[in-house]
Amino acid sequence: MAGMDDPQNEMSYEQIEVPDEGEAITAEGEGLSVPETPVIPIIYGDGIGVDVAPAAQTVLEAAANATGNDISWMRVYAGEHARERYGEEVHLPEETVSAIRDYRVAIKGPLTTPVGAGFRSLNVALRKKLDLYANVRPTYHIDGVPSPVKNPGQMDMVTFRENTEDVYAGIEFEAGTDEVEKLKRFVEEEMGARDVIHDGPVGIGVKPITEYGSKRLVRRAIDYALEHDRESVTLIHKGNIMKFTEGAFRDWGYEVAEEEYGDEVITEDTLWEERDGDAPEGSVVVNDRIADNMLQQVLTRTDEYDVLATMNLNGDYISDACGAQIGGLGIAPGANFGDLRCLAEPVHGSAPKYAGQDKVNPTAMILSGRIMLEYLGWEEAASLVREAVEATISEKTVTYDLHRQIDGGEKVATSEFAEAIVANIETLA
Ligand code: NAP
Repeated sequence: MAGMDDPQNEMSYEQIEVPDEGEAITAEGEGLSVPETPVIPIIYGDGIGVDVAPAAQTVLEAAANATGNDISWMRVYAGEHARERYGEEVHLPEETVSAIRDYRVAIKGPLTTPVGAGFRSLNVALRKKLDLYANVRPTYHIDGVPSPVKNPGQMDMVTFRENTEDVYAGIEFEAGTDEVEKLKRFVEEEMGARDVIHDGPVGIGVKPITEYGSKRLVRRAIDYALEHDRESVTLIHKGNIMKFTEGAFRDWGYEVAEEEYGDEVITEDTLWEERDGDAPEGSVVVNDRIADNMLQQVLTRTDEYDVLATMNLNGDYISDACGAQIGGLGIAPGANFGDLRCLAEPVHGSAPKYAGQDKVNPTAMILSGRIMLEYLGWEEAASLVREAVEATISEKTVTYDLHRQIDGGEKVATSEFAEAIVANIETLA
């Protein structure tokens, strides 16, 4: 029965084959109940998805097996694979969304989004439909990965990007439509914003930032910082210009910090005004920075920052800027979280020009899977994945993107790189 909150292998779908092996992950109180062999939905994705997704499956399965578990994969479809199965107009089938909702923890490759015309981003649609409100991107340097900065090892930040609001909310109207003219009239005549919008064709977008959306994101970032012994959470915003949206995000963030955590969390102002900069043992300091300044700070004062919490657009920019410092898109992992749900996905896109060539770097997708393993509570398997990836890259067994930046080394295909990681998992386990 697709759509039930917690299935027990009773699901049936039209085009999705539910595997015979394995069981569904279910919610138990405030946590997850994870069977020995969970069923995990996987979207291969468009373009290079067909290269990186199978590579990630091989590595994640090997790590699970090496630590006494297994994974039963369930292919679900979106993008070009969905259009092939469900018809030309079906980019994101409802049963794909249901399957991820039902099975709670899933992983996906990249999905292509047409620029300008065409359908809206399937990535954004998935995050919104499943209310995956926090996009989490840990950014740390792996030894041996070439980097454009002198000390890439200083980069160790985790970005929490709000996923459901801001200018990404999809409240956007095209120039020349009745809707945009109506909205323009409303803004000018009823809201008094005259002489602001130039005459002639105009496109207008709306930027909603809610107290609810801001607070649950900041809460998640602070909880993470406390659980992982991080020192600070930095709220990033342009509240100096957008006072009632980005400024409100900052204020609501501080409210969470001040009202919900007692002595465990201290604001930077209180820290200096009352304690001369001496933070209580084990506490998390919450501060804030203006977004443009922060884009400099991640480069110039890298080791001073820890966990970052911000809205959708800032989060997109800042996490890519952080990602560049640790070797770029082939490396940067991510995951989207809702309440007791997780959809892991690499930061990079579908790089169509390399599709199906068994060439690109699967590290980002593999390390996204590592976040997923951590979320399952499989810490040992998650560590094995990271260590084995590091070992493989240190041996200079790398894909084209890293090979062109290092001296010597062996250039291998996507699948060969995955096999080399599996060999290291077996050695390390
Ligand atoms: P992209 O697909 O990330 O590719 C840009 C460049 O980054 C590639 O040409 C390649 O650089 C490098 N790259 C990306 N992934 C790599 C990997 N795994 N290994 C090695 N190098 C990698 O960005 P895009 O061209 O802007 O976007 C293409 C499509 O993906 C668009 O439709 C976009 O909307 C979509 N997209 C989807 C997601 C998602 O699904 N979450 C995210 C971002 C973009 P070189 O050619 O220099 O080697």
